[in-house]
Amino acid sequence: MKKVLIVGAGLAGSVLARSLAEKGIASRVIDQRDHVAGMCHSSRDEETGVMVHRFGPHIFHTSNERVWEFVNRFDTFCPWVNRVKATNSRGVFSMPINLHTINQLFGKQMNPAEALAYIQTLQDATITDPQNAEEQLLRFVGRDIYETFFKGYTTKQWGVSPRELSANIVKRIPIRFNYDDNYYFSKYQGFPMAGYTELVRRFLDHDLIDLQTGTAYDKAMDAEHEHTFYSGPLDEYFGYSEGDLSYRTVDFTYTRGEGDLQGNGCMNYTDGDVPYTRAHEHKYFSPWETHEKSILLHEYSREARRQDNRFYPKRMPADMLILDRYMPLVEQTERTSFIGRLGCYRYLDMHDVIRISLEYADHWADWKQGKEPV
Ligand code: UDP
Repeated sequence: MKKVLIVGAGLAGSVLARSLAEKGIASRVIDQRDHVAGMCHSSRDEETGVMVHRFGPHIFHTSNERVWEFVNRFDTFCPWVNRVKATNSRGVFSMPINLHTINQLFGKQMNPAEALAYIQTLQDATITDPQNAEEQLLRFVGRDIYETFFKGYTTKQWGVSPRELSANIVKRIPIRFNYDDNYYFSKYQGFPMAGYTELVRRFLDHDLIDLQTGTAYDKAMDAEHEHTFYSGPLDEYFGYSEGDLSYRTVDFTYTRGEGDLQGNGCMNYTDGDVPYTRAHEHKYFSPWETHEKSILLHEYSREARRQDNRFYPKRMPADMLILDRYMPLVEQTERTSFIGRLGCYRYLDMHDVIRISLEYADHWADWKQGKEPV
């Protein structure tokens, strides 16, 4: 029987391959890079010995039991709470916005009810149905907090005014009226202690998975396989025939030194005139290790060109029109499915990608057995 072809050995492809293999379905997984794990690739910095998340920090978090059980079969996850700090011209603050941030910013000692009442006085009540990221923030936190923490950062991050962005982009970040400074709400949070690349290599370590890195996809390969699951960029697959979907990419600079360079894993720079968006001290992402030296990565966001790594799908109104034009082509492409952040052109977190791949494997196995997929 022919194998299925999985293009891309990132999280989407590797979890799908593993899950199919455990249902008795063989696959060939190819990746044009010389390593697995795609954009969550991690490797040790030679000079400092620190494990570096090469495409920016990946902090695993989920509330989904199945996803958590799945990843824990392959590695031990070191518990972690992501406590982000934000630097701007007014000071260094706790992110996401919480009672500490509010009290510090306004020089007050409010309790939760007082802080809520105070923030309500700042909210723009004229906005009843926020239509974009700026309106969303003005509605819920008011202009002062919006301009201090969100306006500059969001403009740098996405390259456009928050007025042009969907409100959903900032809904990812909570506002809290207590001292909980955990960036995520998720039930589980942590880092795979062997590193993401090793974690993904373990997903792919199965007799029914034939892994080939350094192998680019060619549509001629489809004929040799029962089905193709493609996790590369959707527009690239179709030769950009309907236009380029826009993405942001990130450039990194590396600073090395002795001891602690920043004192925290994540530091956001929320002023618009500071060129980088964030800095990450990666030894904090391996809290079980000790290192005398340290490495700090600054992130610079810019528009992705075709040859760049695509980090963030922008999903601007013009992109959604282009996406609509690709949809009939997707429908017409027989024996091929599009998966992952790039294949679906969606801003998916790691845990979402894993959940979707696990579900996809279920549907595929059901379909193979003649059952109607849910
Ligand atoms: N954001 C911001 N200021 C911050 C952190 C986030 O304005 O200090 C906005 C920004 O638009 C960002 C969005 O909130 O793109 C989502 O932030 P998140 O930290 O979830 O981004 P990611 O980790 O995916 O880069």
